[in-house]
Amino acid sequence: MSDEYIPKIAMSIHAHPDDQEFSIGGTLAKWSRAGCEIISVVITSGDSGSNDPSRGAEYKPELARLRETEQLSANEALGVKQTVFLRYPDGELEPTIQLRKDLTRLIRQYKPDVVLAGNPEAWFYGNEYVNHPDHRAAAQAACEAVFPSAGTRLIFTDLLTAGYEPHNVKRLYVHGVENPDTWVDISGTIEIKIEALGKHASQVNVEEVAKWMRDWAREDAKDKEFEYAEAFRVMKISEEKSEQ
Ligand SMILES: [Zn+2]
Repeated sequence: MSDEYIPKIAMSIHAHPDDQEFSIGGTLAKWSRAGCEIISVVITSGDSGSNDPSRGAEYKPELARLRETEQLSANEALGVKQTVFLRYPDGELEPTIQLRKDLTRLIRQYKPDVVLAGNPEAWFYGNEYVNHPDHRAAAQAACEAVFPSAGTRLIFTDLLTAGYEPHNVKRLYVHGVENPDTWVDISGTIEIKIEALGKHASQVNVEEVAKWMRDWAREDAKDKEFEYAEAFRVMKISEEKSEQ
């Protein structure tokens, strides 16, 4: 089915600068334009994202700063007002309790209705892309923070002591799944998605990427009544009593 649900507050959780733009940029642009407040959580700052043979370890802090700047420009294009950088090391991410706790704190702080994250089960896409382990780790920690940590009072009691009360996320939007059940029509925002991706100039060639993005989104919208889509598995975790 197509999905016209618009949350009031949504939190996007991803491993690297640009992950969010590749995967859910069209959805976020659509939601922000409909009045949704979006918090973008970027777990690493992409400080391993260069294979320039003239560069070494000393380049990492500069690259991290550059990529944070690119992420902020991309978020501005999407209409995302709040960006949180957790600055874990790029390429070494694991779904640790510390990461789960950091994400739990952010969920309790911002109280999103929806969290959007990758698929923790995804090892391979087609026969050309082995999923980056950081993507899997970020996705796993995000899912575990959404449930059970964010809503369970006595998990991470130091957060409770610090004033972070439990919060129940209503829906978890998982992208990059084999069997999606929900398609967001992004025909009105595909160009903004491409514009936002183009802000990651250290990583992407926007001409090339624009074609892929249209191809992927057209593929995701196959047999639908609209041209471009982003596809999700949506977990409806807690009831939306007041709205429905
Ligand atoms: Zn990535």
